[in-house]
Amino acid sequence: MEQVYKQIVQKIREIYKEPEEFIPLHAPVFSGNEKNYLNECIDSSFVSSVGKFVDLFEEKMAEYTGAKKAVVCVNGTNALYLALKMVGVDKDTEVLTQPLTFIATANAISYCGAQPVFIDVDRDTMGLSPVALKIWLEQNTHPGTRNAKPINKNTGREISAVVPMHTFGHPVRIDEIVAVCDEYSIPVVEDAAESLGSFYRGKHTGTFGKIGVLSFNGNKILTTGGGGMLLFMDEELAAKAKHLTTQAKIPHPWEFVHDEIGYNYRMPNINAALGLAQLEQLPSFIKSKRKIAWEYDDFFRLLTSGFKRRNPNLFPVLFVTEPSLSESNYWLNCILMPNRTERDTFLKYSNESGVMTRPVWRLMNKLEMFKKCQTDELLNSEWLEDRLVNIPSSVIV
Ligand SMILES: *Cc1c(COP(=O)(O)O)cnc(C)c1O
Repeated sequence: MEQVYKQIVQKIREIYKEPEEFIPLHAPVFSGNEKNYLNECIDSSFVSSVGKFVDLFEEKMAEYTGAKKAVVCVNGTNALYLALKMVGVDKDTEVLTQPLTFIATANAISYCGAQPVFIDVDRDTMGLSPVALKIWLEQNTHPGTRNAKPINKNTGREISAVVPMHTFGHPVRIDEIVAVCDEYSIPVVEDAAESLGSFYRGKHTGTFGKIGVLSFNGNKILTTGGGGMLLFMDEELAAKAKHLTTQAKIPHPWEFVHDEIGYNYRMPNINAALGLAQLEQLPSFIKSKRKIAWEYDDFFRLLTSGFKRRNPNLFPVLFVTEPSLSESNYWLNCILMPNRTERDTFLKYSNESGVMTRPVWRLMNKLEMFKKCQTDELLNSEWLEDRLVNIPSSVIV
């Protein structure tokens, strides 16, 4: 396999036209109006929580995603927490999510005092499986009495939400998930932190559930330095989110009156200025990322057919392409190695060669804080954890 690893690393260097230097997994690109807008903030003195870029960024993001309203937030993790609170995730309830996700998903559930329950993913989408979800609900819950939400038969706790995540930008079967959840009266919060620019059946991810959440962290497809956003199809709920993120202050020319416990989750104007400049370039970022993905796809197909011919018993290295019915932003490209040993050998080889690669996150149910949580049979999640490697995916301008 050593020869194959060498070819992969060479291909990555060829794509990034970087014969020797270190190649990161995902670096931000600032080739638009970033400096102009930032200067405008400083010159006008509107650098903090009020300013035109906040409003503009929200408007343009709603337009791009097709959401009725978008509400900015300090980061994606807090946006998730707020979204969960807003759909009624309270203390001692349970939230169904996937174990194959970034820690923020499970942490946000914990901040509410709720317990995550980990349900398996599908292999092709790498996100929550609607079939596994339905089966788990059928076998483990009975209808609630107090309100319509179901109760977990094993623990007596209410199932307060379902949180699917669009892994590495590839959309999950979100329509099927929403259909199952509707049947059980469970609200869906979509963790779309990685899938800005990804569509399922022509509709933007994050606009299928009750609330969708985006992140603009430094490594995401679009960055505001740090930041997040909530997407709504329900304008009333969006207005409530805006109120909660701004200390629940009742608008008044001078009086300080707050009508509930709110949060200081506002995104500063300088971050929104950066975001707006980045958003203007999003179509070209996505074009570049999809082109890189196709180059990888071609390369790995050839590689696979090549070494299948030489040794039919060798399991090929597979490149993960967008699931059917979807258009992915290809935020982080993924390959699947034959097994865990090969995965580890390739990780060592590529990182030592100055090409940054990473395994998928350790499954949530294997982490100290979540290892006592209930789980479904996690066969696909474990299969993916053993094999998945992210390879460099930065936009090329
Ligand atoms: C990045 C990310 C978040 C939130 O990230 P912040 O860094 O808090 O903006 C949440 N969920 C997933 C899956 C993510 O990848």
